[in-house]
Amino acid sequence: MSVIKLENVSKFYKSGEGVSVGMQKVSLEFNLGEFVAVVGESGSGKSTLLNVISGLDSYEDGELYIQDEETSHFLIKDWEKYRAKYIGFIFQSYNIIDSYTVYQNVMLALEIQNYPSQLRKARALELIDKVGLTSHKNHRAAKLSGGQKQRCVIARALAKDCPIIVADEPTGNLDSESGKQVINLLHEISKDKLVILVTHDYDQVQDIATRKIKMHDGEVVEDKTFKPNTLIEQKPEVTVNSMQFRTLMRFALRNILSMPKRFFFFMLLQIMIITTFSLIYSNLMSSARNETFEMGFGGNYNSYFNFSTDRISDNRMMVLRKDGSIMDASDYNHLNQFSDALYVYKNVTFMDNSYVSDMNYLNVEGRYIYNYSSKFDSIKTIQSAPQFLIGGSINNLDDHDIIVSNSFNDIEINDQIKMTSRQRITEFHIATFEPASESLPDRYTWPGFDYNMQYEAELTIYDSEGNYVNYYTYTNYVYVEELEQIFTNFEIDYITVDVIKTIYEEISFNVKGFYNDNLSGTIYFSDALLETNSYGYAMSVISSNSIAAERLFNQIDKSVYRVIYPRLNRDAVSQLFAPLNLIISLFYYVLVYFFGIFFYFILFSVMKNVMSSRKKDFAIFRSIGANESKLGMLVILEQLYLMFLSFIISMVIITVIRYYDFSTNFIMQQMTFTDYIILLITFTYLSTWLARRFNKKTFKLSVIENITESKEEGL
Ligand code: ADP
Ligand code: MG
Repeated sequence: MSVIKLENVSKFYKSGEGVSVGMQKVSLEFNLGEFVAVVGESGSGKSTLLNVISGLDSYEDGELYIQDEETSHFLIKDWEKYRAKYIGFIFQSYNIIDSYTVYQNVMLALEIQNYPSQLRKARALELIDKVGLTSHKNHRAAKLSGGQKQRCVIARALAKDCPIIVADEPTGNLDSESGKQVINLLHEISKDKLVILVTHDYDQVQDIATRKIKMHDGEVVEDKTFKPNTLIEQKPEVTVNSMQFRTLMRFALRNILSMPKRFFFFMLLQIMIITTFSLIYSNLMSSARNETFEMGFGGNYNSYFNFSTDRISDNRMMVLRKDGSIMDASDYNHLNQFSDALYVYKNVTFMDNSYVSDMNYLNVEGRYIYNYSSKFDSIKTIQSAPQFLIGGSINNLDDHDIIVSNSFNDIEINDQIKMTSRQRITEFHIATFEPASESLPDRYTWPGFDYNMQYEAELTIYDSEGNYVNYYTYTNYVYVEELEQIFTNFEIDYITVDVIKTIYEEISFNVKGFYNDNLSGTIYFSDALLETNSYGYAMSVISSNSIAAERLFNQIDKSVYRVIYPRLNRDAVSQLFAPLNLIISLFYYVLVYFFGIFFYFILFSVMKNVMSSRKKDFAIFRSIGANESKLGMLVILEQLYLMFLSFIISMVIITVIRYYDFSTNFIMQQMTFTDYIILLITFTYLSTWLARRFNKKTFKLSVIENITESKEEGL
């Protein structure tokens, strides 16, 4: 039995049209304890023989036996296993990872074979010492001389502790002194191993070699053994352990860090892509969602107590007694006990009935500047709606201090806003009209009105069956012509008039700061102001978010209270459009998906060159026993590291942009936790996809083709 046996093995190279012979009908046997020198002129097939023996290249004809096992049926996996178990390589072109230090290069071999981790470091240092590179152990391989590189490779081959060492002109690029050192090292380690060495300088190994093989035109023309081999019957001991995932993760991290410039370049690129993509995503999503939101369901006017609901946020609802009577402390305490009720405000008249048209802005000198009603669309409280404070302070506020949305961009701190608040005090039914008669005056004045007070009259219109038709509001009087118009338009028999007495009160507020909530146009009042108001017809309840608000809505006893929560109305209507919304959101998701792919194609084309320059590294990893699936995993891990780091940095950048850019803040506010998860999954998927593409390209070729190709590309 022999360790390696070749039987009529032939290897042909297809180049262009023709076929050239690498080696022809070679039959040889090798055993442990041999130091074989392979000689022959250039092109005689020495390298081919070595590559075939070491499983780096395939053969076409004949049979190669490894410990009597046929190899013609071997798959890539089997060759990988064989190389990992048996072979240590030393090439003429010092196949070394240039971006690694000497120590890391040696460490690599120990890690790939899963050498006991607690002994790894000591073993690596011992081997480095053995090849005389201790003083250079932390130098990057790229900075070493040829002889030093070759010694580093030998240390790495030794680290592998394998029975066969193949060396292809290891001294070819060295001066004679370095050459001698390398040969001596090889001799030292050759004792119970099989060493096959290709050399153009036989004299150099004459004293050491136990056997000489001469090749010519791909054939063996001479095979002489000089020394008897005492180990001829010895079987090689091989154990091979696969790299652990933990080691692989460390390995990936080291790869990234060993190329800091490249690393930062790609991180920058990824950060740009992730940031841009996240902004596009949130933008598209927020418009997709607003589509649902804004389909004509802004606010509405609640006639029961005549307050507008269009300033009720998704976190807030109004609670009234079902019988319409004034609420008191028992209602306040009852509502306060719900855990989802964050704040209960006793009187919503102020919050919801402030006359928006009477909201005037005065500057510090008290001069009327502007009417802000158009920009003003909601009331919140300072404490319950935390935002970025981008000016002023929220400390030591009194009842009449307010914080405003930065959408009021020409308001300054300490400016004043005057608002007229309307409080409804009573309401009563005054009349039922028959159709107008000749006897009515031009202008019909409501009977019993005090002209020093302001009134509002609601004309409620019923048809002849007593069904509600419409209603109008007027102040102290109505023109008879208008009344007649209503009678004819609706073909009705009578109109009832209810009159509401209201008190108007002007209140001044001092602007103490700005919240960055651009476009929402909110005015934030102090809790104290809203809470100390006397009890009214309705209370306002705020929850921490819309989910809590909905829960609260369901908990409140509807037999006692009437709850006005416009969000649910909006949702109910928008559900009618649910299928349409689904199509719209699908469309946006597809759009976003294509954006993602597009960005990654950019990244891919930039990274392609870099990855192909790393082909040599991967060939080396493979040649020292790392298998394809592990290396594939390695590339994926590298990409994921880059992506995760870039993702985190991108999120930090977006947070900073949000602070300074109001519209970004507005858009990003609509991002939910799920959106971030979707983003992360998208990038994880794309990074993995990118890595897989590289893997496909890299591992398509055999190890030797890879090495050759990267050499041809001059890398
Ligand atoms: P040596 O190492 O003795 O110089 P090689 O084994 O490299 O010789 O080459 C043997 C023969 O095979 C030569 O004729 C060479 O031109 C040919 N050959 C080697 N590698 C390739 C290749 N990748 N493609 C085509 N022909 C090749
Ligand atoms: Mg050669």
